[in-house]
Amino acid sequence: MKVQPFDLSNSRILVVDDNQDNLLVLQTVFKRLGWKIDQVGDGEQALQYLNHMVPDLVLLDVMMPGIDGYEVCRRIKKQPEFSELPVIFLTAMGEMGHLVKGFEAGAVDYIPKPFSLKELELRVLTHLKLRRAMLEMQRMAVTDGLTGLFNHRFIVDSLNSRIEEAQRYAQPLSLIMLDIDYFKSINDSFGHQTGDLVLEGVASKIKECLRKVDLCGRYGGEEFLVILPNTALEGGLQVAEKIRETVQTANWGVQGLQAAISGGVAQMGKETSSELLSRADQQLYHAKDQGRNRICF
Ligand code: GH3
Ligand code: MG
Ligand code: MG
Repeated sequence: MKVQPFDLSNSRILVVDDNQDNLLVLQTVFKRLGWKIDQVGDGEQALQYLNHMVPDLVLLDVMMPGIDGYEVCRRIKKQPEFSELPVIFLTAMGEMGHLVKGFEAGAVDYIPKPFSLKELELRVLTHLKLRRAMLEMQRMAVTDGLTGLFNHRFIVDSLNSRIEEAQRYAQPLSLIMLDIDYFKSINDSFGHQTGDLVLEGVASKIKECLRKVDLCGRYGGEEFLVILPNTALEGGLQVAEKIRETVQTANWGVQGLQAAISGGVAQMGKETSSELLSRADQQLYHAKDQGRNRICF
């Protein structure tokens, strides 16, 4: 298998430096590579910038008006969402003690000024690649390879945390458990490859029916779990019915092939996630019992 190299054009780099001359030099180099540069003049502005924008890398000066670069780096790294954000110090203070302080503050690299532009470019490139690889690994760890939905572990973990959140804020939450009907016969009649196409197709049709805040995972072979935050039973039923209808009316592009799905819906009460899961599961079994291609609650 050939692995595609990461596309690093369009990378966004935040430069925290009060010196305009440095910025001009960096802009000349980075623009050529297609990278965007945003500049702020001090640490406070850098932290504010990060409240509404996530760059791919930060180049940070040490000596600046207000809080120094080390402290800025420590504050950035304290925030869990920036744990993988590479910070590189770019500084006139090149002695060993400063370098160690920079790494201890959480930086991934330390480049003393004056620096070679080529060296800077190559170091930035290395850290952009490492960041992409890390993000890709994190994504793969929570994703089901066939359908692109969340995997079993992640969707169950999410259910636990969403229930906790909903109970704390006294918000409703609904859960839908779905299972493709007679999927074994689809495999038997049309082959496993077509079975896989149906699985992928059903997954994308489920996603089409959801809002951005809803979560959907592949719970098992041909079983799916949908978490609907801030949604009471009636809303949950509507979504489940829309999914059922969309799957039933889909055209799979294979003569004679039709698919249908059954679902069970449950609204969270004062219960644990496994109690809620088993209520949705029981309703799914009712739907199967009553003839399939239907939603029960
Ligand atoms: P029911 O209507 O009662 O749900 O019947 P069913 O045939 O859908 O259920 P059953 O549990 O008997 O069969 C599920 C089938 O799903 C069996 C298994 O081989 C198939 N399956 C599970 N994972 C995959 C997969 O990744 N790809 C394909 N093609 N088939 C899969
Ligand atoms: Mg099934
Ligand atoms: Mg099943």
